Amino acid sequence: MEHWERGGASPRALLEKLERDRRLARREWRFLLEHAAAEDMAFARERAGAAARARFGSRVYTRGLIEFTNYCKNDCLYCGIRRGNRRAERYRLTQEEILACCQAGYGLGFRTFVLQGGEDPYFTDERLCALVGEIKARWPGCAVTLSVGERSRASYQALFDAGADRYLLRHETADPAHYRRLHPPELSLENRKRCLWDLKEIGYQVGTGFMVGSPGQTADCLAQDLCFIRELSPAMVGIGPFVPHRDTPLGAEPAGSAEQTLFLVALLRLMLPDALIPATTALGTLLENGREQGVLSGANVVMPNLSPVGVRRKYTLYDNKICMDEEAAEGRAALERRMAAIGFTLPAERGDYRPAGPCPGGNSLAQRAQKEE
Ligand code: SF4
Repeated sequence: MEHWERGGASPRALLEKLERDRRLARREWRFLLEHAAAEDMAFARERAGAAARARFGSRVYTRGLIEFTNYCKNDCLYCGIRRGNRRAERYRLTQEEILACCQAGYGLGFRTFVLQGGEDPYFTDERLCALVGEIKARWPGCAVTLSVGERSRASYQALFDAGADRYLLRHETADPAHYRRLHPPELSLENRKRCLWDLKEIGYQVGTGFMVGSPGQTADCLAQDLCFIRELSPAMVGIGPFVPHRDTPLGAEPAGSAEQTLFLVALLRLMLPDALIPATTALGTLLENGREQGVLSGANVVMPNLSPVGVRRKYTLYDNKICMDEEAAEGRAALERRMAAIGFTLPAERGDYRPAGPCPGGNSLAQRAQKEE
């Protein structure tokens, strides 16, 4: 038994410490995750919901998601569009199709476009830079977020120079052994972290995140995730429950828990009060009102799909994904109704990251070397 547990520390005391100090040590996270009871989780979600309300009011920011290619050269064991899945029907949107999605999204009030895809070698720096440049030229008031995986620092720099504002790259798990269990040998946690630090140093608003309940995940894995996120201090953190895809090696594994995901959303909000935290589609897939619950637990972003309905079923990272047949306008209207029902609005704004105080994690090399313990 750990000394502070013998001394009377409790999940509630750790939650109060987290709210006060915005950080916990790895062993404290582990204890909290292992011992939190239902009332502790409810307390965390209530406090996190209040923190988000205090910081963002009733606003939930929207991002228009465009899944523009499902080709991928990687073989992550949990992913439905991994290259080894021969049953995946591949597609790539043309530049004109992508621009048409942006046009429709702009008319619906979206001011951020998220270009997400597998690691598709067709999208060279030249092609992607041209695409980003065209979007920024046509809609200069909009933010462009890229989510296209691991690339070289020079590539990230070129895309930033072309006008990309933000980059999403989940680290998925900060535990090296767990990372190896979920990924093929050619991918490494070290390189994933290198990418994230490069992106931050270049000047992107960076997003990372992880799956909750992925096979082999322990409380200590999650503790390492939370310590890494505190160290990186990203602008955005996206987490969702692991949801198996039947055509992957992990297809028979149980899904993660929506309850635990909501608890972790709350912990992230208490740790990073200014961060942009989505209520993810995966959460909405596991729980009918998952996205509403996410917002009430501290999330402040939703990402409706702007991809053409004809390709949506081909971009299935996991089974039973929701909103497959909803046109963009329907999807936005439905989310507006859902959010209005719990007292939130979806403003037509970019919703940039604006830290209220000094950046807690910083991004200097010296700070990178700091460890939580
Ligand atoms: S998780 Fe990303 S990198 Fe891995 S196989 Fe899927 S799309 Fe490719």
